[in-house]
Amino acid sequence: MTSYNKNYIEIIGAKVHNLKNVNIRIKRNSFTVFTGLSGSGKSSLAFDTLFAEGQRRYVESLSSYARQFLGKIEKPAVDHINGISPAISIEQKVNTRNPRSTVGTTTEIYDYLKLLYARIGKTYAKDSNELVKRHSHTDVLQFLGKISKDERFLILAPCGEENRSISWIKSLKIKGYSRLFYKNEIVSIEDIGIDQKTEWNKLYLLIDRFAGNEFDEDETLRLTDSIQTAFYEGHNKCSVFLYQKGSYKSFNKDFEHNGVTYIEPSLHLFSFNNPLGACPKCEGFGSVIGIDPELVIPDKGLSIYQGAVACWKGEKMSEWLDQVVLNAEKTSFPIHKSYASLSQEEKEQIWNGTDHFHGIHDFFKFLEQNSYKIQYRVMISRYRGKTPCPECEGTRLRSDTRYIKVGDRNINELVNMSISDLSAFFNRLRLSEFEENMCKRILSELRFRLDYMLDVGLGYLTVNRSSNSLSGGESQRIQLATSLGSSLVGSMYILDEPSIGLHPRDTKRLITVLRKLNKLGNTLIVVEHDEDIMDEADEIVDLG
Ligand SMILES: [Zn+2]
Repeated sequence: MTSYNKNYIEIIGAKVHNLKNVNIRIKRNSFTVFTGLSGSGKSSLAFDTLFAEGQRRYVESLSSYARQFLGKIEKPAVDHINGISPAISIEQKVNTRNPRSTVGTTTEIYDYLKLLYARIGKTYAKDSNELVKRHSHTDVLQFLGKISKDERFLILAPCGEENRSISWIKSLKIKGYSRLFYKNEIVSIEDIGIDQKTEWNKLYLLIDRFAGNEFDEDETLRLTDSIQTAFYEGHNKCSVFLYQKGSYKSFNKDFEHNGVTYIEPSLHLFSFNNPLGACPKCEGFGSVIGIDPELVIPDKGLSIYQGAVACWKGEKMSEWLDQVVLNAEKTSFPIHKSYASLSQEEKEQIWNGTDHFHGIHDFFKFLEQNSYKIQYRVMISRYRGKTPCPECEGTRLRSDTRYIKVGDRNINELVNMSISDLSAFFNRLRLSEFEENMCKRILSELRFRLDYMLDVGLGYLTVNRSSNSLSGGESQRIQLATSLGSSLVGSMYILDEPSIGLHPRDTKRLITVLRKLNKLGNTLIVVEHDEDIMDEADEIVDLG
């Protein structure tokens, strides 16, 4: 072998496919465009020669144990290639076999969102939107420090559901307690009459009585002790009764609010690939097999009267249409308006029915109930398809995650935003200093990835978008964005027409991204026709 210049990758005598003994030198760490007519062999040179040899040498360098899993890669038809680097090809292929894979998982944006929510997500009650948290005795002390100076208050242990019996009262007597608090009055434990009418939820064990909002050291000790006793006797619950206000304030050591237990944020809870986090209905796929609205109403330009509902045709089934037409007036449903121009409420009427006519869902329920008849089974199968999961609305996560928020948004709302909106959300997000410190890294990783997605012109995608629904070009640009994120250096990136499907404005941004990848210390080989990209290249190899 002759000596060669280390600054170049040399291809000598390439004969793959229709290449005729091609000799080429490519400058390392440069940005080179391969161009030429279709059939000129530019892809044969880039992918089937350079990339194939890069891969082969990589596999050869592995241990024999690892090699047995990869199989033998044939040497491409070329005499010599010198100075080749590890090769990474970014092709226009949608290469995902995992149906749960999304834009968020491939770009790792979702991984960082999960971390963020697990770390600083706050849970809000379903009914009142109040913050759900575990209380400790310090929360009670803090509360008491803020009440009015001349207030008198009681420290109480509520009677939990598990205690609602005479034996509880007896056990309290044995422990030496002497007073209860029932319907806002103190009663001696000897005098309380327990019968059918006892309102247990208004019964408390009186632990201690206090006044004021300033406590010296001894008082603080006694108060702390009483609060802890109340939590103990109240099975993790403690209440304070304020005399002047005549009101109760309750505290809970469990992750609970108004009797509803919530799941505390954790990484698994936000993973739709994990049984804890996946929506139980669709198992984390985001869609279920059901009646596909697109098949039921294929032409939204038609009115209901004109037959927009495709399954209400034919002699027998048109009876369903007739009952709508005959009764529509009673609910002033506009049967002559095109389906597309119906309001959301009117669309719901035609699907769910009204007091005066049956809807599409009733129709399919009828078919299900009579599915022992073959014609009904056939009918159902004709309108079956993938529909967004009704339980999680396509977000793939169990519904409990909806109550956990960062900056007034839950994770489901974020994954359904476009990347541009999400980026704007994070630019606006204001956190407390504590939270900011807790997730400084997470936020910078998130912003970094969102920026790269914007740079490659994919700001319109949502994080929740399925990878297998992307076009080849979109898939390629996501790979490009993730390559930038990984900051791998000293590699040879080979790209296949990355400008395809891009708006000229986005091509400019793409060029910036390609340059960044190159500046990181990588060799860039791009098979391309676009003039803007060719103008930017350090070298052009025209295969004629
Ligand atoms: Zn679901």
